[in-house]
Amino acid sequence: MIASDLQSGIERLGGMIAEAGTIVPFTGAGISTECGIPDFRSPGGIWTRNRPIPFDEFVASQEARDESWRRRFAMEEVFAAAKPGRGHRALASLYRAGKVPAVITQNIDNLHQASGVAPEHVIELHGNTTYARCIGCGQAYQLDWVRRRFDDDGAAPNCTTCDEPVKTATISFGQMMPDDEMERATALSRACDLFIAIGSSLVVWPAAGFPMMARRAGARLVIINREPTDQDDIADLVIHHDIGETLGPFVGN
Ligand code: NAD
Repeated sequence: MIASDLQSGIERLGGMIAEAGTIVPFTGAGISTECGIPDFRSPGGIWTRNRPIPFDEFVASQEARDESWRRRFAMEEVFAAAKPGRGHRALASLYRAGKVPAVITQNIDNLHQASGVAPEHVIELHGNTTYARCIGCGQAYQLDWVRRRFDDDGAAPNCTTCDEPVKTATISFGQMMPDDEMERATALSRACDLFIAIGSSLVVWPAAGFPMMARRAGARLVIINREPTDQDDIADLVIHHDIGETLGPFVGN
């Protein structure tokens, strides 16, 4: 059911939160737009400017790796300056209250951790862009190290241990999903009373399967997103309003 206006949406959501024992939030890029990080698919989003670089292209081509790192460095000021928004803070409040065991996120911006959710309780389906890893042996690298090497050599660096390419610790299109995170997200989706999808167009699979999975397992499903999604029809409550406005009243509760 689509909330007729913001206020009635907030009231219904509040009732559902009060009734639920276990709430699992599932977040997408829309929760971070008020923090200055553009999403992918809104007008002005990242994809309107850059075609994504699939994993096999990154592996095969030094040029693609250089381009990928140039794009990442160009975004660094934005990522480094971003602070948790009202959506992140509302979820952190529910986490502190013991209602939210963990947050499932498609985001790579580290803002749930910055809002006070313990890192082990943030399930990052698509990884994290605030550090890098070797795609061969998995060794972690700081972005500063990558940047220095890039500036010195004029090219994206390889791992000092195994000489394979170093990539942001994110999951690109065509890259394997992380097993442990997928298993934990599956278990949480199946066991919760209330599943809240926030700021996701729900078109990136397999991540977009979790709201449906939770609904089928008996949870109530809420979708908060400015634009309609393909799963609005199966949701118990749909709020087509701004995330900060919708979740702001739940900050600090
Ligand atoms: P998406 O860009 O496909 O969808 C974002 C949705 O959020 C859109 O439907 C948009 O209408 C909505 N939205 C944006 N701002 C909003 C607001 N203030 N209030 C309400 N709705 C708002 O993003 P997605 O579904 O997360 O999938 C894209 C992939 O993009 C993810 O896998 C993620 O890894 C990656 N990504 C992450 C970030 C980040 O970490 N912040 C940013 C861009 C892309």
